[in-house]
Amino acid sequence: MFRIGVIAATTSAALVLAGSPVLAGPQTVPNGPWIQDQQKVGLERLHSYRQLVDALHQISQQSDGRVSLETIGRSNEGRDLYLAKVGHGSTKVLYITQQHGDEPLGTEAALQLLRRLGNPGTQWRAILDEITLLVVPRVNPDGAERFWRQNYDPDCTGEYCTPGRGFDVNRWHDPAVDPTVNPVPEAAAVQRVFGRYSPSLVVDYHHQGSYVTEDGDLITTSIFWPNTSGVSEAAVTLSKQACVTISDTLTHYGYAEVSQYPGTLPRGIARNAYGLLGAGSVLVELRGGIGQKSSGMLVRTAYVVMASLLEAVAEGTLHQADPTRADLIPLRGDFVEDPHE
Ligand SMILES: [Zn+2]
Repeated sequence: MFRIGVIAATTSAALVLAGSPVLAGPQTVPNGPWIQDQQKVGLERLHSYRQLVDALHQISQQSDGRVSLETIGRSNEGRDLYLAKVGHGSTKVLYITQQHGDEPLGTEAALQLLRRLGNPGTQWRAILDEITLLVVPRVNPDGAERFWRQNYDPDCTGEYCTPGRGFDVNRWHDPAVDPTVNPVPEAAAVQRVFGRYSPSLVVDYHHQGSYVTEDGDLITTSIFWPNTSGVSEAAVTLSKQACVTISDTLTHYGYAEVSQYPGTLPRGIARNAYGLLGAGSVLVELRGGIGQKSSGMLVRTAYVVMASLLEAVAEGTLHQADPTRADLIPLRGDFVEDPHE
């Protein structure tokens, strides 16, 4: 049922967007193995924590050693946090999903990507020779179990705490906060992964509310680069090149209206924090406020972003993208629901 919906939506969107003047002349649209994965990607169900852990172990066991797992810490409520690794290239890419418990679809896309990379075809194997992919799927399992934004720490106090619930995990990545004293163990676990592996590129997957462009088209994806002060020009450039690649790919293949996310300045937001530490660092916001049918499309969209960035990094086209074109990505349209970074 979802597959039919995904293909139909993709086709009609491609027709509508074929003449889009938003970003004329993309130079670097990836076109690799992820295109052929279309039939296998969609939303069948959301994974509970137990199902997520089972799925990760199954993916690893069926991968002939390609996908390895480790635990990188525990949530505030004691759930193990997992890191999945695949590939053996020198360039490392880190994807994190579901820092906000009620934003689940990046996790579903990450599971499908890991499953694909565990049994890669020739094209994927060539990509995995060049990169190592690190994935923290569902950074915030406690919030996910309750389907709310925060972690579970009802007695929390201070900055970015919602009493009775917990902390906003995506405000606690500031490099000035040492992971050993970070009050948010989920953010500290990601900080430690970054410190151990020094990835070149970090992408953080979220959902936002529903927004429309000036023309009334529904925006399905907003993206942004680090904008806090102190991020090196090199890190901003790489982040913008990743944004241009994402925008060109999604627009070219008709997956989404893409816009700039109106990101704020706190250093503890992952997008800013890992930019401050020198990585290319990008926020990806899928549309929220979703029904089951469009959820399958959004999982596919996240999958395409994840897969096409790996291809662009491995083949070197990411570095050929013109970073100044990121500033031409349109600003997000009218406010419909709460923002979610
Ligand atoms: Zn979010």
